Amino acid sequence: MNIPITSFPRIIIIGGGFAGIALARKLSKQEVQVVLLDKNNYHTFQPLLYQVSTGGLEPDSIAYPIRKVLKNFSNFHFRLANVTQIDAENNTVITDIGNLKFDYLVVASGSKTNFFGNAEVEKHSMAMKTIPQSLNLRSLILENFEDALLTSDLNERNALMNFVIVGGGPTGVELAGALAEIKKGILPKDYPDLDTRSVQINVIQSSDSILKGMSEKASEKAEDFLEKLGVNVWKNLRVTNYDGKTVTTNTDLVFETATVIWAAGVKGALIKGLDAADFVTRSNRLLVNSFNQVKGYKHIFAVGDIACMVTEEFPNGLPMMAQPAIQQGKQLGDNMLRLIEGKPLQPFVYTDKGTMATIGRNKAVVDLKRFKFQGVFAWYIWMFVHLFFLIGFRNRMVVFVNWVYNYVRFDREARLIIRPYKKKHKV
Ligand SMILES: Cc1cc2nc3c(=O)[nH]c(=O)nc-3n(C[C@H](O)[C@H](O)[C@H](O)COP(=O)(O)OP(=O)(O)OC[C@H]3O[C@@H](n4cnc5c(N)ncnc54)[C@H](O)[C@@H]3O)c2cc1C
Repeated sequence: MNIPITSFPRIIIIGGGFAGIALARKLSKQEVQVVLLDKNNYHTFQPLLYQVSTGGLEPDSIAYPIRKVLKNFSNFHFRLANVTQIDAENNTVITDIGNLKFDYLVVASGSKTNFFGNAEVEKHSMAMKTIPQSLNLRSLILENFEDALLTSDLNERNALMNFVIVGGGPTGVELAGALAEIKKGILPKDYPDLDTRSVQINVIQSSDSILKGMSEKASEKAEDFLEKLGVNVWKNLRVTNYDGKTVTTNTDLVFETATVIWAAGVKGALIKGLDAADFVTRSNRLLVNSFNQVKGYKHIFAVGDIACMVTEEFPNGLPMMAQPAIQQGKQLGDNMLRLIEGKPLQPFVYTDKGTMATIGRNKAVVDLKRFKFQGVFAWYIWMFVHLFFLIGFRNRMVVFVNWVYNYVRFDREARLIIRPYKKKHKV
């Protein structure tokens, strides 16, 4: 891998997501050698992926080169590498570009879409966890309308214009709201010879409310916003299968559709070698103690989505969200320096800064510790927070300008089929 050997301890970080970047920043200019490995050369701001999928933002504006984030750190090395295995016995990571020894290892590999073992659903539905997946979805949505325009088969046309989003969490809700706005504001202009009023947007939620992790008020208001936008919200309904044409559920209800977007859950992005059953949870996360040490190891840590830190308040582990990832990354940075200096470690304490979701123009829900907002003010807070956490001045500017433009013009100009998506099935 061409990494110099120095007298400093080597810390390998797997993953340049929220947690990995926060940690690397903390370790900059310290007496350690940091090697960050990621299979992409960019950091992805996942909370805005749905805007890429729906043509509101270009993908480049929510991605940022990892090398640039850490360009001024002399003790830092980045390698574009897919880590395929961790050999904990020999303190070595095995990657597609070679092997590397570590003194300390931090697994910050995030999570991936959880299809709960249903291979057919996985094969036929769309995930939205990465930029390439979001671009696939963008292409598919637009291709559906192009195909709908050409077919004279009414059933086929309806299936092409029927969208099923599985999962009523923030991702499902935000995507549904964006699709509803496209239906209202863009499709009638782009496809005047297609009856776009028959476009259906369905959100299927297995429990009795959407935005489950938020307050009752936020959940009710979000549902109200979605219904006003014409989205069908199906609660207490569980998807049992999707064969590329028909969604079946645990009731008699079925959906004939060309597009299922799976936003029903995530699981840890485990890496071979560190996947022993006794420290891996049901959702494939690595059990860590309050210092983020993986159970059974003193020199191997996990942070962010992949780490399952159980607390009294969170018996199933901290939420798989950006804030716990960033906070754990920062805290572990401090702790690693303490560890190297032989000082006692400090336990991690999560500060819940609140949760939020946007449903569309002027419509958002925000739950802070003391205050809860819904509507226009919440929407401004949502925009401000997302701009603040985006990495890079240029990205912030581009996103801001895009949002202002889209707001004023009721438009989403990135509706481009640049890389056509090849469907695995035909309706
Ligand atoms: C669509 C969507 C919307 C979201 N919206 C919100 C939101 O509004 N608010 C919120 O707080 N959270 C949101 N989240 C969750 C949030 O993005 C995650 O909790 C957060 O990204 C976790 O950070 P992380 O550093 O643990 O992992 P990630 O940010 O996922 O980073 C993991 C990194 O590891 C790399 N990697 C993985 N495996 C390997 C390997 N084997 N070898 C090399 N590199 C590897 C990946 O390429 C990636 O760069 C959303 C997530 C999604 C998918």
